[in-house]
Amino acid sequence: MSGLDMAVRSPAKTMTPKEYVARLMTEIRAKNPAEPEFHQAAQEVFESLIPVLDRHPEYRAAKLLERLAEPERVIMFRVPWMDDRGDVQVNRGFRIEMNSAIGPYKGGLRFHPSVNLGILKFLAFEQVFKNSLTTLPMGGGKGGTDFDPKGKSDNEVMRFCQSFMTELWRHIGPDTDVPAGDIGVGGREIGYLFGQYKRLANEFTGVLTGKGLSWGGSLIRPEATGYGCVYFADEMLKSQGQSLQGKTCLVSGSGNVSQYTVEKLLDLGAKPITLTDSDGMVHDPDGINREKLAWVMDLKNVRRGRIRDYTEKWKGSKYVPVDLKLGYNPVWDVPANCAFPSATQNEINAKDASNLIKNGVTLVAEGANMPSTLEAIQIYLDAGILYGPAKAANAGGVATSGLEMSQNSMRLSWTREEVDDRLHKIMIAIHSTCFETAETYGTPGNLLNGANIGGFLKVANAMMDQGLV
Ligand code: NAP
Repeated sequence: MSGLDMAVRSPAKTMTPKEYVARLMTEIRAKNPAEPEFHQAAQEVFESLIPVLDRHPEYRAAKLLERLAEPERVIMFRVPWMDDRGDVQVNRGFRIEMNSAIGPYKGGLRFHPSVNLGILKFLAFEQVFKNSLTTLPMGGGKGGTDFDPKGKSDNEVMRFCQSFMTELWRHIGPDTDVPAGDIGVGGREIGYLFGQYKRLANEFTGVLTGKGLSWGGSLIRPEATGYGCVYFADEMLKSQGQSLQGKTCLVSGSGNVSQYTVEKLLDLGAKPITLTDSDGMVHDPDGINREKLAWVMDLKNVRRGRIRDYTEKWKGSKYVPVDLKLGYNPVWDVPANCAFPSATQNEINAKDASNLIKNGVTLVAEGANMPSTLEAIQIYLDAGILYGPAKAANAGGVATSGLEMSQNSMRLSWTREEVDDRLHKIMIAIHSTCFETAETYGTPGNLLNGANIGGFLKVANAMMDQGLV
């Protein structure tokens, strides 16, 4: 009998929920080697579920956690394409169809050289609970490729997207699996992907979200993740009788989520002072106002330039290039009240978290997926600051994708005000779910537990109802 078999057959019923989760994590690490991000995401969620397992032994008997950790389907494929010089290039494509208990698979596509199976499995796993929190009927999935759109011509990006969709199209559909954007996939890429899907499937359906406004897209979808994250932060502050008015805010990244986080912070009277990209960060003590934000949007979305150019245009700001030898990220070492990590996973380590707290930050709202390491999260919780975990705080993007799907099904378009109002109400509802669930399960104020348990319960009950599938 192998070690794994012995672990599975060991007398699970005599173990406490804590021991059971520890044993399960050992099995997950053994079964999914070289996937540290996936292990991290699973550990964070499963440890939060210990009080639930205590109250619901039936979930353990049905092996719900084991089933949640195993994707329903993983698709991995070759993506050959030709660059502008006529040379053949080969990338690897993925789609992880993680869990369809409460609706069709739903989640973004990431185009970034760091993409691998483990990163996409962590993202797909997180997506299951996030989508459940939105209150909309969406299962969880995620996909992408190690193709890097940076430095490629529009024609190269188009040829890549067409080749990627030439395989992906047979696995997706408006009632099966509905991808969207993520890092490296914005309006341009969704357009090329949709065009190729339509050509192959010979149908015009809502198979992707984040579409252009004239061909099925929803107003507010580009803004939704950033706006939603700020709405969520506002709710967190309201729960303590505070507001964003006058608060100094650190924002990382300078892509889709960061840009609209800055915009909504300005709407609510806060003062965003930083942005980053993978080369470095800018600190503008005077604040990034609307004029400066418009300039950044043009730099990033049209000219596709680097954030270091900011300091040449806007005097009084400072640029600090990335220095991996430092062991910490200087953006989290700037004095401020609130932090909105909006670039990528694990961008805040334990040292960064300590720096945030030392510098006066009392709220962290995660626009990016899993931007804080497990050690960083523990530092927030020990310090008692307000912590809005990604699967709740950044759920506004996928929620608005859900609203785009509804509009496509009804073949009509809601106004900007209507979509924004629905987004705002969804973020308020997600905050209440997290807040109340944290109280019900004995950890008041711990929105991480609230989000993990709140997201889990709906999926768990659907899985129980649907039998062993
Ligand atoms: P994006 O538009 O491609 O922007 C990503 C930003 O993060 C860029 O400034 C990029 O800098 C930076 N970045 C990416 N990888 C990095 C790395 N390894 N190190 C340092 N900086 C890095 O992507 P996005 O849509 O804003 O997504 C940002 C985060 O939000 C991701 O974690 C994503 O999963 C999450 N998220 C997005 C949505 C959505 O609706 N888009 C929804 C929920 C969650 P460079 O340009 O130098 O690469």
